[in-house]
Amino acid sequence: NSDLILYVNLELVNKKSDRRYIVEEMLGQGTFGQVAKCWDAETNSYVAVKVIKNQPAFYQQAIMEVSLLSMLNDKFDPDDQHHIVRMLDFFPWKNHLCITFEMLGHNLYELLKKNNLRGLQLQFVRTFSRQILDALIVMKGAGIIHCDLKPENILITPKVNSAAGVKVIDFGSACMEGKTIYSYIQSRYYRSPEVLLGYPYTTAIDMWSFGCIVAELYIGLPLFPGASEYDVLSRMIEMVGGQPPDDLLREAKNTRKFFKHAGSIYPGNEAHDGLRSSYRILTEDEVEARDSKKPKIGKWYFPRGRLDRLIFSYPWKNLNEGNLPGLFSDAFIYY
Ligand code: ATP
Ligand code: MG
Ligand code: MG
Repeated sequence: NSDLILYVNLELVNKKSDRRYIVEEMLGQGTFGQVAKCWDAETNSYVAVKVIKNQPAFYQQAIMEVSLLSMLNDKFDPDDQHHIVRMLDFFPWKNHLCITFEMLGHNLYELLKKNNLRGLQLQFVRTFSRQILDALIVMKGAGIIHCDLKPENILITPKVNSAAGVKVIDFGSACMEGKTIYSYIQSRYYRSPEVLLGYPYTTAIDMWSFGCIVAELYIGLPLFPGASEYDVLSRMIEMVGGQPPDDLLREAKNTRKFFKHAGSIYPGNEAHDGLRSSYRILTEDEVEARDSKKPKIGKWYFPRGRLDRLIFSYPWKNLNEGNLPGLFSDAFIYY
């Protein structure tokens, strides 16, 4: 990849302070740009520099990343206690916005891969879960939705007194609660029901992703893998054992992508038990007929023994009993 060669062995000059970042190696790349491990000649330490793609849309979103993260760091986590990555600096470089972060370790997807996708020991699942939740509580307090929580965006922290730890990174898709602009957010496996269905969303969507991540850390494989959104939603419905309630489906924008209106079961009576619905999910054949390119739903492929010990439940049914739609995504994990 020619971009990659361009960045390696490159010296980034911070115009603001003439501080020099010397690129040592590439750490990763994503949708927004590339991340390089750099030697910071001013502080004599390693930093991670995210070089954002030089297109206006990415630049705009990176400005969002900088402002939300600096708010989180400075106002809501001044003592760096809540497992959120520290932003150190940002500067423009040849039409690229660059953001420097503290240097962290491997991401959780890399860790799972190293472990041959067999899942982590329960003690690590517990520790990491607690720390991610700690970050989510702070984000909720700040009214910030991460919108892209996934194993690739959770990094191992360098060992301090040999205690394992993680931090949440990548606020490149984040937004403020109540100022949600985009409807196509989150990575597919971790995409919440309200985002799939096109329903107003809150910080609860990060909680959904969190539930998926915890399960994945334990079993080693994604909980709701799917080649399409229909695939992912079908798997959710299969696992939860029921579909979202009628009133929600009636209001969601994307209901027709996944469901057929099968006629009102109780005309004039809004009450229903969640089992009899006016909607039914499309069959695979119907989806295929609509779009012949989409692959069929695969079989569940969880390693048995591990899944037996994990119950992932989801309070869709309780919604009919007057719960707020905002609670839609609370995921509960019991060990
Ligand atoms: P996405 O496609 O998820 O939106 P992105 O382009 O926004 O990705 P990041 O997620 O910020 O980019 O970074 C990409 C990868 O670079 C991460 O998954 C991680 O492996 C690595 N990385 C990012 N920040 C750091 C850091 N501070 N320390 C070490 N590695 C990092
Ligand atoms: Mg990322
Ligand atoms: Mg990102």
